[in-house]
Amino acid sequence: MSNRPIYLDCHATTPLDERVLNFMIPYFTEKFGNAASVNHVYGWESEAAVKQTRRSLAAAINANPEEIVFTSGATEANNLAIKGVAEAYFSKGQHIVTVATEHKAVLDPCEYLKSLGFEITILPVNQDGLIDLELLEKALRDDTILVSVMAANNEIGVLQPLAEIGKICRQREILFHTDAAQAIGKIPLDVEELNIDLMSLTAHKVYGPKGIGALYVRRRNPKVKLAAQQHGGGHERGMRSGTLYTPQIVGFGKAVEIAILEQETENQRLTELRTRLWQKISIIEGIYINGHPQKRLAGNLNISVEGVDGAALSLGLQPIVAVSSGSACSSHHVAPSYVLKALGYSDKLAYASIRFGIGRFNTVAEIDQVAEHFIMTVNSLRKTLVASR
Ligand SMILES: *Cc1c(COP(=O)(O)O)cnc(C)c1O
Repeated sequence: MSNRPIYLDCHATTPLDERVLNFMIPYFTEKFGNAASVNHVYGWESEAAVKQTRRSLAAAINANPEEIVFTSGATEANNLAIKGVAEAYFSKGQHIVTVATEHKAVLDPCEYLKSLGFEITILPVNQDGLIDLELLEKALRDDTILVSVMAANNEIGVLQPLAEIGKICRQREILFHTDAAQAIGKIPLDVEELNIDLMSLTAHKVYGPKGIGALYVRRRNPKVKLAAQQHGGGHERGMRSGTLYTPQIVGFGKAVEIAILEQETENQRLTELRTRLWQKISIIEGIYINGHPQKRLAGNLNISVEGVDGAALSLGLQPIVAVSSGSACSSHHVAPSYVLKALGYSDKLAYASIRFGIGRFNTVAEIDQVAEHFIMTVNSLRKTLVASR
């Protein structure tokens, strides 16, 4: 392991915590029962384990256990929330409001609904990545059925003002969905206090297993109606059929329990590591932090470097540190990040950005090594640039 690059890409995914793995193992082997089997102990013990996870997840967001619908992750949860509401509230209206910096798992279902005749308003963001609440209010109409705004952004880590958005939506009796894939276990999330009606969660961004997530669906004040997007055995109260993936589910619950328990101390530690990294690399001329400097996830540092080629920079970093650059590769086409473009960045600056995602297993020594290598890489790229002029 020691000769592999330092992992600083925790917004893409996180390593599974060993405590979570150990908790999952029996559910692959002796406790393999189908949680829907009611006639024997194999089914009962699986059902009990799933129930316990529902309780921990509900407790983490101040919901009720019956309001948790398990899915394969946040992508599916977002699809279920957005398409499920669109279908169920079709007769009330066909207008949905979302934001330019949302994850594709929100933007693409909206785009799909548009092709079916729905109207989608995509709100812009300010230069700090936050939405303008006045623009949100202006966008709402009598036929608006859903507002979808993410809790924490996956590129720049900024935290949208959920409490204010929730209040506005509740006043107008419009459903509020939030994609909290990056937020669960990292910041406090209270569905009552924030007036959230639907919330997408995933385990693999919070040191849990991949392939499991959930959608919180409010059952009271108001009761959210949702049209199933996957039909079958009627699991999850008909909202998402399919045999429950018990090992992943118990791992999800354990991962969230640990994260909530350690949230405060871990956020402090991550803030220290991020501050340390920024203090070191900010000696570089023409380096900027992207997104609001304070209202962001503790482990996120997203920066742009002037006059440096983004592809060359990420190539230079690769052997020492695993990070994501601000370019998205889609079908062999390298494009600058649409999130940074939404913040008003030029193609060039958006392209020369690096996202550091610091996590639970990163150390001070690693941060120092990354900072040193980063400075060296930028300096040498700038030298070649000058030499080639
Ligand atoms: C990772 C992520 C997703 C997708 O989650 P999966 O569980 O991988 O499907 C959706 N939204 C945000 C904000 C994310 O960071």
